[in-house]
Amino acid sequence: MFESLGLGPNLLKALDKLGIEKPTDIQSQLIPVIAGGSDVQACAKTGSGKSAAFLLPLLQKMIDVPAPNTATRCLVISPTRELAQQLDRHCRDLACFTSVNSMTILGGESLKEQKAKLRKNPEIVIGTPGRLLEHVEKNSLLLKDLEYLVLDEADRTLDMGLQDEVTAIVKSCRPERQTILLSATLKHKGLAEITRGIQVKPKKVILDSHRQPHEAIKQQIILADDPGHKQQLCNWLLANENFEKALVFTNTRVQSEDLAVFLIQQGLSGACLHGEMLADERKQVMRLFRDGKVKVLIATDLAARGLDIPAVSLVINFSLARTGSDYVHRIGRTGRAGQTGLAVSLISPQEWNLMESIQRYLNLAFEKREVEALPAKFSGPGRKKRAPKKQKGKAKKEKPKSKQRHRYKKAIGKRREPAQQKKDELQSLGLAPLKRAAREKPG
Ligand code: AMP
Repeated sequence: MFESLGLGPNLLKALDKLGIEKPTDIQSQLIPVIAGGSDVQACAKTGSGKSAAFLLPLLQKMIDVPAPNTATRCLVISPTRELAQQLDRHCRDLACFTSVNSMTILGGESLKEQKAKLRKNPEIVIGTPGRLLEHVEKNSLLLKDLEYLVLDEADRTLDMGLQDEVTAIVKSCRPERQTILLSATLKHKGLAEITRGIQVKPKKVILDSHRQPHEAIKQQIILADDPGHKQQLCNWLLANENFEKALVFTNTRVQSEDLAVFLIQQGLSGACLHGEMLADERKQVMRLFRDGKVKVLIATDLAARGLDIPAVSLVINFSLARTGSDYVHRIGRTGRAGQTGLAVSLISPQEWNLMESIQRYLNLAFEKREVEALPAKFSGPGRKKRAPKKQKGKAKKEKPKSKQRHRYKKAIGKRREPAQQKKDELQSLGLAPLKRAAREKPG
């Protein structure tokens, strides 16, 4: 129960309002560690309630020790705008019966308006690295009083190449602070580099390996011949599966746009979400999807991490994720907070090996499914040729005493043929054969 985790009446009231009754495993483990004041490195499955696991104890600390005249008290660095907005919403919901306020600082928005909001000294600032750094450099975001620093989805931040921005922001933070790092995996190559010197004896909270399969998600594959076949399969799944909302993942912006056009032509209510859209467009699409006005979102991996959209019950991998951990993040958009979900990956011949490596990474075998109306010619790789077994009792062939060089044998007397062939080909095309420069005779 949340009462036993040291949360006060105002946060308990908010949890009650949100219909959140029992702490999840990560919340039971992380809340006391953060409340105790240690630096933390936490690793948990997406959809496990990890945002509330750090927001609740931090909010409680800010309620317990008010500091109305200070600059920003808590900074949350998030890799994407969508994740930052989602965190901000969650934070506002949890803090609705308290006086703690939060704001987002995101790229693509007006700097001037952000500066005006920052002048009001919000206690919690949640933002993306690039824009946060701009404000730090312009002195409009003051971190000299910072008490809590949270690096959310740190592995994703590194994958997006935002390490330098994060390091520069951290340098301007008050050194005597509590630093909390959350990541899908703590084994990421760059993580040690980014955490070196910014945390003091961090406690590790590793709940479950990111490789553990989601028991609540059924994972299937359907073989597909080419992109056209995939489009048909995707359309069939969206027309025949029972779902409230579906997320379709592609690997590129062009793929997502092409697929969206195709699906809309087939009469589906779909929209696209990718990194090259303007901030306002992205916000609007997310709002429409969250409100259920758009049932199908066709997205690149940008939408894969951290987004919590209720009622996503179907995830389709139009193109397979490039790595096992990206795959886990994608399918983690469904089967959240106790719901069940279905994840279907469409596998082309080129993606077969990648699919096998993801199976090995997850240590499971995907369920193979066929759509009778749209059969694939591709049925998996052909059987690999094995070296012939030695037969018992058969007389050994005698090795020839000297090596026969077959290539020389083959070529004897034939070396000029290709040139002649070329000449014939050129002539048949009505072109003159190439002339060699006449050799000068000596003397
Ligand atoms: P997160 O892993 O933080 O993205 O959270 C996933 C979803 O779980 C969010 O919609 C939360 O509102 C919800 N949630 C968080 N904590 C709990 C809980 N203790 N019980 C049920 N749902 C929760």
